[in-house]
Amino acid sequence: MAKSETKPAIGIFGGTFDPVHFGHLRTALDVVEALGLAQLRLIPCAIPPHRVEPVANAAVRRLMLELAIKNHPKLMVDDRELAREGPSYTVDTLLSLREDFVDNPLFVLMGTDAFASLTSWSRWQQIIELAHIVVMQRAEEPLSLSAELDEWYQQHQAKAGDEKLSAGKVWSVPVTQIGISATQIREALQQQRDVRYLLPDAVIRLIEQLGLYPPQADER
Ligand code: ATP
Repeated sequence: MAKSETKPAIGIFGGTFDPVHFGHLRTALDVVEALGLAQLRLIPCAIPPHRVEPVANAAVRRLMLELAIKNHPKLMVDDRELAREGPSYTVDTLLSLREDFVDNPLFVLMGTDAFASLTSWSRWQQIIELAHIVVMQRAEEPLSLSAELDEWYQQHQAKAGDEKLSAGKVWSVPVTQIGISATQIREALQQQRDVRYLLPDAVIRLIEQLGLYPPQADER
């Protein structure tokens, strides 16, 4: 795997962001700071492989992200998954990113739950050839892994200096525990409750303007 002394390190944070909230944004920044990333790309998925379809459409989810991170120098929205047909597999996104960032260190962020299910992801072993994996570790969420994944994790655990590699290691990064979920926000909106301080005001304004997540909508 390539040594990359000079190229800036890039983080990749995929999700449905339906809507984006402070749980996403604060933990993204925690990782930027912990690993000294030059930029973090938030990538809204078109069709998530592991879950039901989002409520808000892709263009609106992208717009909510753009409003949420406006003027932050290190956060940006990357809409490459929205241009692709079919399910948004991480490995395909990484293959696409590698065309743009040939030997930059790439870091894919995921929660402990996502990491625990890694072996069910499409071409999961290829993911670590293309990028590092960052497991965002919330204080009250211990890693609970299958024997197979635990062994694989031990083999790939990062050590000091590995951040110069372009890919290949698993990093466990402590992040702020913020118990907010998009599901909770959609439910609150559908019950016409106040969602301030759970997500950026600009995103709330857009939700109101467009009438997203209306009271009579079916929560899935
Ligand atoms: P939903 O409630 O609709 O499932 P969500 O809030 O979990 O949505 P997603 O867009 O599915 O948001 O999440 C994208 C990524 O963000 C996932 O890896 C998830 O683990 C992570 N994430 C979601 N909420 C938080 C939070 N409060 N703190 C840290 N990470 C979070």
